[in-house]
Amino acid sequence: MSITYTLRHHGAIDGVTGSCHQLLLADGRSILVDCGLFQGAETSADGGAAGQPGIDFPVADIQALVLTHVHIDHVGRIPHLLAAGFRGPIICSQASAILLPLVLDDALKVGFTRDEALIRRFLGEIRKQLVSLPYQAWHTVIDGATRLRVKLAPAGHILGSAYVQVALENGKAKERVVFSGDLGAPYTPLLPAPRAPYGADTLVLESTYGDRRHPNRKDRRQRLQALVERALANKGSLLIPAFSIGRTQELLYELEEIIHRQRSRHVASGLAWEDLDIVVDSPLAAEFTSGYRELRDHWDQEARRKLAAGRHPLAFEQMLTIHDHATHLQTVDYLARTARPAIVIAASGMCSGGRIVNYLKAMLGDSRHDVLFIGYQAAGTPGRDIQQYGPRGGWVELDGQRYTIRAGVHTLEGYSAHADQQDLLNFVGRMRDKPRQIRLVHGDADAKAALAGAIRQQHPGVEVVVP
Ligand SMILES: [Zn+2]
Repeated sequence: MSITYTLRHHGAIDGVTGSCHQLLLADGRSILVDCGLFQGAETSADGGAAGQPGIDFPVADIQALVLTHVHIDHVGRIPHLLAAGFRGPIICSQASAILLPLVLDDALKVGFTRDEALIRRFLGEIRKQLVSLPYQAWHTVIDGATRLRVKLAPAGHILGSAYVQVALENGKAKERVVFSGDLGAPYTPLLPAPRAPYGADTLVLESTYGDRRHPNRKDRRQRLQALVERALANKGSLLIPAFSIGRTQELLYELEEIIHRQRSRHVASGLAWEDLDIVVDSPLAAEFTSGYRELRDHWDQEARRKLAAGRHPLAFEQMLTIHDHATHLQTVDYLARTARPAIVIAASGMCSGGRIVNYLKAMLGDSRHDVLFIGYQAAGTPGRDIQQYGPRGGWVELDGQRYTIRAGVHTLEGYSAHADQQDLLNFVGRMRDKPRQIRLVHGDADAKAALAGAIRQQHPGVEVVVP
């Protein structure tokens, strides 16, 4: 007797956003893993897209939503899922359970309503549905003829991130399905590296950097320092578009380390590292940074050692946090006009919205300013356009208007919060029981093709599917 189940992917098929995967049992009951928003030009096969983020599949038989982590491209469609009638449990790690309401609060304000009372009511509902599951603990979701249990394990991508192990049992028959979510890379600041599961029959694997190796990950802090010093040499701001969640905290952590080491050494003419302003212009990033600070039990050993030594990796003196909109506008104006050297970290990470857009509009035309990309830029986002056309003196469209790019444009490789090809191959290679089938999601076509080739070469017995 074997167990039949099917996998459906409602996003992260033609690209890296909109993650939403469904595991259906023969009796029609199912679970959903992630329910994310689409960004940029990316869409789902069944019509989901950034402009129409609704739920276009039936939700009545979905028994639970399991979350890998709280990035918006993995959780942003939750309001739509609830609007479609889903009332089941939302299972996630303990840290994710604390961070999720912050993300959804922001998502609701941007995409749904400014009505605070309505948002509070909605978040109250979400909190009732949340099941906070410690890492490595099994939780039964479906207890019928076929039993379905889930377990979360650290994924090393952002705080609280997990990959999901699903165990299906029917009498003696057993099936194991693993959903990788977004896997982190070793050396991700603050987070322990992910460890591969014991085994799986089917593995749904992300492939964001399936065609790349992150170079020299170990000396990237020196490269960040060199790049900051180069960018600030002619004064002006260094703009770093970053996800409010995860990336911003990693950057702050790294900058604190550089400042700690350099102190009175010059970052730009007449300016010491310890006097450099680091502006975090995002209320969400600020809230998340405090969330990260509260969750210090989840930090890795290095970070905890720094705390014990009296350092404050995520709350140091040179860090200025901007909350309100008026101060935001004043800061954009002040930095654009004076070109006083500063680092500005603001969302969104792909420049498709958020406060970074005002900085870009004000500064892209001025060669004293610089933009630094450290995260993945999806096709169709302004971030990708700036990255691609900026170095050739091209333009980018922001809010329907063209902006010529004279600012310096830099990309720092090796700073990804995502596993590279070798890390992904290790995740498979270190499983004691190799999967029968690996389904590659969450990557551009080139990345998936390269990773598929590499897996087939190393594990000829494994069927690799690109859904
Ligand atoms: Zn992510």
